[in-house]
Amino acid sequence: MKFYRFVLFLGVAAALSACSNKGDSGGDSGPSPKQLVAMDLESLKSVDEDAIDDYDRSARGLFSRIYGGTSATAIRNYLDARIRYYLSQEELQALVVSPSHFTNDRWMSDGSNVFGAEMGAANIGTALWLSGLVDGVPVSVTHAGQIINVDSARTGLMLIGPGYRYTLNVRGQTVVLPSAYREGILLHEARHSDCTGGITQDDLSVLRSSRSMRETDRRFQAKACGHLHTYCPLGHEYEGLLACDDHPWGPYAVQYIFVRALASSYSGVDRAVMDANAADLLSRLRFNTADMLNGRLGEPDMTNGGLH
Ligand SMILES: [Zn+2]
Repeated sequence: MKFYRFVLFLGVAAALSACSNKGDSGGDSGPSPKQLVAMDLESLKSVDEDAIDDYDRSARGLFSRIYGGTSATAIRNYLDARIRYYLSQEELQALVVSPSHFTNDRWMSDGSNVFGAEMGAANIGTALWLSGLVDGVPVSVTHAGQIINVDSARTGLMLIGPGYRYTLNVRGQTVVLPSAYREGILLHEARHSDCTGGITQDDLSVLRSSRSMRETDRRFQAKACGHLHTYCPLGHEYEGLLACDDHPWGPYAVQYIFVRALASSYSGVDRAVMDANAADLLSRLRFNTADMLNGRLGEPDMTNGGLH
């Protein structure tokens, strides 16, 4: 199915750390995307809980507020509540969506080359759920013979993108990425499954009348519903891409907290990758990040609402 442009407004999930080249997709011989996710979920079971505890204490308990605790179990519960299906690109192609076409689709259309950055993953469940609300129609998908009703932001259908990588080329050297780098991408995508604050008919009217993603970015007030990204500004590394956040505690922020908490449990090249990743994520937050971290912009609201 032709679905790519459709999912991209939720899609560019910090696949690039500051040490990588844009669009660098050098030979990646390693596990398949599905195997890689399975490996990362397994590795998450033995995550360094002491490092997380230390960070949590130094950061006003922000990690616990977001993930519901500092244990591997808490993180897995956060993830499982929000992502239930991990789809490869082949599985996305085979996905049957009903309806097959949405009448109002201009609100998320984007003429620019959004592949300027490599997509790590995309939360297609949330994109479909919002599209159904905008069109006022029920949405379902058939995946591996199973019919899934897309009736909440928490449906949890995630596409594993080309940026969900085992290795990265850094100045000609192939670096095996730490699993926490990719786990951060999963936790990022999971945050898109929260419709924080809910969405109103007035908000949906804005989307129906919007003629482009640019216009949606300017006019849509409920971006915390699905935690939609905003365009990165001129001069930014991801200038013109939907790869920044304009509200606190969105996907890049929760991903940052995870990466920051675990950085200290790595050393050498892995530590450098984690630190670069954390700096990259912070650069995508288009507001005062110190004020977010110290609570002046409010504490993380991890609830999920719907149409009200
Ligand atoms: Zn995202």
